[in-house]
Amino acid sequence: MSKEDKDNEMKTKDQEEADIHSFMRKAARIMVLLIIGIFASCYYIFVVELCIFTVQLLEAKVTFLVIFHMLFLLCVCCYLRTVMTPPAVPPAKFRLWESDIQLYQSDERPEVLQKILIHKAKDLTVYCTVNSQTSLRYCKTCKLLKPNRCYHCPVCNICILKLDHHCVFLNNCVGLSNYKFFLLFLLYAVLLCIFTSAVSLYCSILLWTHQLPNSQSKIPIIVLFILCTLFSIALFQLFRYHFNLAVRNISEREYHGDTEE
Ligand SMILES: [Zn+2]
Ligand SMILES: [Zn+2]
Repeated sequence: MSKEDKDNEMKTKDQEEADIHSFMRKAARIMVLLIIGIFASCYYIFVVELCIFTVQLLEAKVTFLVIFHMLFLLCVCCYLRTVMTPPAVPPAKFRLWESDIQLYQSDERPEVLQKILIHKAKDLTVYCTVNSQTSLRYCKTCKLLKPNRCYHCPVCNICILKLDHHCVFLNNCVGLSNYKFFLLFLLYAVLLCIFTSAVSLYCSILLWTHQLPNSQSKIPIIVLFILCTLFSIALFQLFRYHFNLAVRNISEREYHGDTEE
């Protein structure tokens, strides 16, 4: 195969990957809308159908509404902060000088490439490990020297500091800038789901045993109970997994040994 054919094949492959990632970004926007829709539906069923139409005791109504609103607001705030916080990218000083980029592109010998990167990293030793085992990493797309724990996200197409993973449910990367909000969102979401699930189960039992007047809210409350129970199980597993990683100070990428890109 000639060099030209190889270049063309590479270009087609890059184009296909770019199309897939562009589709993922569009699909993720729908995911975010879907999650906001689920939040809104659960809010309506709990506040209107359960607390206002079904629960009779004023003290119980107020207690349920206060606890629910506290957890709901914390959960929504952390979700929006995770979605809307832009990922942290390496500072401009990590970009290679134009002359070095040209030299890097013209020479394919690994030892020469490492020499260029080591020269650049001299002033950045706080951030970049240089030893016999670890070679310095360079991003050809962003044209910069990657600091430790910085990885290129193919969906966002930028290098991100302490990249954990790209999340389709958030349409954003989870990394240095928003990991705290992501973890807090999972925690509040688990607490909210457990609380909503417990209250809706309690009301379902009262409705079933005719201790509360039978109303049209019965079905939505049972649906709310099933939804929240399923979400609390799934979110608890996710929170436990990420909490363990956070305690050990490793990202999801590092946990899976995916530390090249
Ligand atoms: Zn990059
Ligand atoms: Zn990303």
